[in-house]
Amino acid sequence: MRIVLLGAPGSGKGTQAQRLVARFGVPQISTGDLLRSAVARGTPLGLKATAAMDAGALVSDEIVIAIIRERLGQMDVAGGYILDGFPRNLAQARSLASMLAAIGQPLDAVVLFNVDYGEITRRISGRRTCPNCGTIYNVHDAATPGITHCTSCAAGPALTQRPDDNEQTVTRRLAVYDEQTRPLIEHYRAQGLLRSVDAEGPVDEVTARLIAVLAPATAASRSAPMRKAKAKTKAKPKAKRKPKPKPKPKTKAKAKAKAKARGKARPKAKQRAKARLAPARKATRTSVRKTARKKARKGSRKSPRRG
Ligand SMILES: [Zn+2]
Repeated sequence: MRIVLLGAPGSGKGTQAQRLVARFGVPQISTGDLLRSAVARGTPLGLKATAAMDAGALVSDEIVIAIIRERLGQMDVAGGYILDGFPRNLAQARSLASMLAAIGQPLDAVVLFNVDYGEITRRISGRRTCPNCGTIYNVHDAATPGITHCTSCAAGPALTQRPDDNEQTVTRRLAVYDEQTRPLIEHYRAQGLLRSVDAEGPVDEVTARLIAVLAPATAASRSAPMRKAKAKTKAKPKAKRKPKPKPKPKTKAKAKAKAKARGKARPKAKQRAKARLAPARKATRTSVRKTARKKARKGSRKSPRRG
């Protein structure tokens, strides 16, 4: 499943994305997290982003898109992913579309989180964080009305409010969303990708609605992800990795040669699977590419039309 979660700030996309990660075993890709990580690691893109932020500017589409491109090139997204906070405007949406078209893996669905703006303002302005353990509470939650102190920490420290979580800032962020992001709703509706979900109410109920609207998108890739997610392994579903069906060999001799090639290729596939689990991602990608090149060479000898 390759999906985008679309919705105003505070509509609960991040929370629901984590639920989907747990259920489907595909990674959540959040531009915010990627940018923070790139900045922290001091990568070339991170340095560019830092320069923009130091100058008081927003991180440009160019940088955000480059960071997403880099992320989508990693091995763990082969079985799908959940994009959260990207694309944020039409330019980003178009870049994403051409990126995905180039690898023949278009989006399966875009889910719009419908939440009343009054509710969003209430949610965000009611948010309180424990400075000790980081637990987020809400003074408007039925379970924790007017909460002031952490109930997870033994010492029960006083909760704090993030400076950005006030009504004024929320109103400004909603205005930016209206102007920049809202046009994506029509954009994706026109492509038949848009699904809507009522994102108000208890988190569990929203998750259930979300899974219901995603059913058609997940049916297509139902194979392994759910079972794998339960097993909590990092192994990726095989079904999605399988190459396109090979063209039928024209002669018996060719068929034999291919069968032979396949026989040889099998141990390599195992090695690749092992390499995939290794932390060195770059090395893995290189070796996969090498194998692919070898295969291509092998194939081109047998049949000049391949590749
Ligand atoms: Zn705490």
